[in-house]
Amino acid sequence: MPVFRVALDLPLHRLFDYLAPETAGRDDIGLRVRVPFGRGERVGVIIDVAASGAWPLEQLKAAGEVLRDLPPLPSDFFALCSFASTYYQAPLGEVVLQALPAGLKRCAPPNRRSVRPPLPSEPPLALPDLTAEQAAAVAAVTLDAGFSVHLLHGVTGSGKTEVYLRLVECVLAVGRQVLLLVPEINLTPQLEERVRARFPQRTVVALHSELAEAARERNWRAAFAGSADIVLGTRLAIFTPLPRLGLIVVDEEHDPSFKQQDGMRYSARDLAVVRARQAGVPVVLGSATPALETWANASGGRYRRLTLSERANRQATLPQIRILDTRRLPLHEGIAAPLLAAIDECLARGEQSLVFLNRRGYAPVLACPACGWVSRCRRCAANLVLHLADRRLRCHHCGFEQRIPPACPTCGNQDIHPFGRGTQRLEEWLQGKFPAARILRVDRDSVKSRKQWEAMLERIHGGEADILVGTQMLAKGHDFPKLTLVGVLGADAALYAADWRAPERLFAQLMQVAGRAGRAELKGEVVIQTQYPEHPLFAALAVHDYAGFAASQLQEREQAGFPPYAFQAVLRAEAPQMADAIAFLKAAVALPPVAAHGEVLLYDPVPMRMARLANLERGQLLAESLSRPALQAFLPQWREAIEGLKAPARLRWHLEVDPLEF
Ligand code: ADP
Ligand code: ZN
Ligand code: ZN
Repeated sequence: MPVFRVALDLPLHRLFDYLAPETAGRDDIGLRVRVPFGRGERVGVIIDVAASGAWPLEQLKAAGEVLRDLPPLPSDFFALCSFASTYYQAPLGEVVLQALPAGLKRCAPPNRRSVRPPLPSEPPLALPDLTAEQAAAVAAVTLDAGFSVHLLHGVTGSGKTEVYLRLVECVLAVGRQVLLLVPEINLTPQLEERVRARFPQRTVVALHSELAEAARERNWRAAFAGSADIVLGTRLAIFTPLPRLGLIVVDEEHDPSFKQQDGMRYSARDLAVVRARQAGVPVVLGSATPALETWANASGGRYRRLTLSERANRQATLPQIRILDTRRLPLHEGIAAPLLAAIDECLARGEQSLVFLNRRGYAPVLACPACGWVSRCRRCAANLVLHLADRRLRCHHCGFEQRIPPACPTCGNQDIHPFGRGTQRLEEWLQGKFPAARILRVDRDSVKSRKQWEAMLERIHGGEADILVGTQMLAKGHDFPKLTLVGVLGADAALYAADWRAPERLFAQLMQVAGRAGRAELKGEVVIQTQYPEHPLFAALAVHDYAGFAASQLQEREQAGFPPYAFQAVLRAEAPQMADAIAFLKAAVALPPVAAHGEVLLYDPVPMRMARLANLERGQLLAESLSRPALQAFLPQWREAIEGLKAPARLRWHLEVDPLEF
């Protein structure tokens, strides 16, 4: 009797064997199959068909129906999943099944509808003449010479998207498909429309987590069937099988949303490079502020660097950046007079301004001046944020909330105060200051879904706001033609943060938010308030010098032995008591594989920066090596040994490779 070796979505590093029908053969590999599991039934994927399994045949259960509504998943799909499983220490079954749309994993009958056919032909759009740098970039990406990685480095508005579209055109012309990955928040219908409008005869499908299940399945099927020409997706789209793949583009490649932060913790940007190599096609990584890892790869010659140094639209010059030293200026509700004056002038000119403050809520904490009480989350090592609009105190980490107490819960003092400021408070104050101005606040409280985000973008485009108050949501890749002034508050916190990646993120964020100003004919200005005006980050920012900033950061990292000059993985454990988490991590340090691997250094277990989240205390242990292969050789042995450790019942642990946060 043949045996199906089946991948199931379970946190176990093994396949599951089932008796297969007599007629089963290697053609069944890659098909889905229903199998009995526990008291129920599950859908798995046939990874292998063997003459015998790991268990005696009489102990095996019979597999259920083999699902043939889809052709078998192809071998390059498994090659990518298998790489991800090995590299990220995630069970193959989890990787394979998380890559499939939900409808294909259920035992219910599959949902089948085809994608809308291409539209009838339209007159072609008038395309701009490429700048010399754009033309050079397009020419540098040779589409028929196999695998290559290109970093397209260009300031906002330098015409990176135009370069992608020209490359897409060339790839489609030879009958291949394109995978275009963008960060979560950037995938809006506007972007989809821009791509569709450019290729009206082609089938463009979107894949992202907020698509309705049926739509996602439909689009995924079209991609897999080869009937979709362009797949526009967020990180999860990296796994989509594409029979005619000819090019991968990752826009805003530095964006943290390409890294999955739970379940299988993978980097879609890094997998894009792996996938391109496996498929023998080029990959283009685009950004104004590349990840330092990517920049180092380009500087080391592993990636080819293509530079767009100016804005494509000749009239749109880069905004002027002014660093405002707040140590010498009186502040009104956190805003210095020169910034207020600039907002006022902007209003008078009938243009839009944006005040950027990366902190939502009214105030980050409510405090009692009499006894020192502050609003803390009872479940997390964090403060409860004051939300005055609906009179709640809310934890931004675990979601816990309560109403605002009428008096100090400790001493009864009725005079308790908000401390510090968030976007709501800023909005309220600006409204008082500029009563005639239409103010729009854009943060995760005012924009909770993709739909609301799209509606908000429409309003901003439609000129329905004079002043925008927003968090980093507003910083990302959107073109607001009337926006000419950007004021930045609260940037200093990241300058000297314990997180050594904070300056990289701050620089990227400030470049992005600055890039919002003056994208059309109107000239832009950016005003950044700081108490550290002499900081080199601001000096580099003021002259739009990413390369200089990157060089100094990389030098610091090299001296400190941080990535990309070292390779890291982190083992995290969480339990009701920190002592249990730390004891588990200590036991992991003492395991035999650790001693056997001289090239991997394990640090002492420590509490995580946010030590308590939703009633669980969290510890972590950093494993580091100067050699990626050494770390990769160590991790599977170590993981297996950790799986054998005894742990308290409520302890959970996971490994993350190439962690971004600690
Ligand atoms: P990026 O993706 O780098 O932010 P875009 O490709 O969106 O830049 O281009 C910014 C703006 O410049 C867009 O309005 C685009 O239509 C325009 N643009 C791009 N390339 C050219 C060009 N070669 N000539 C004139 N305008 C251009
Ligand atoms: Zn008190
Ligand atoms: Zn909390």
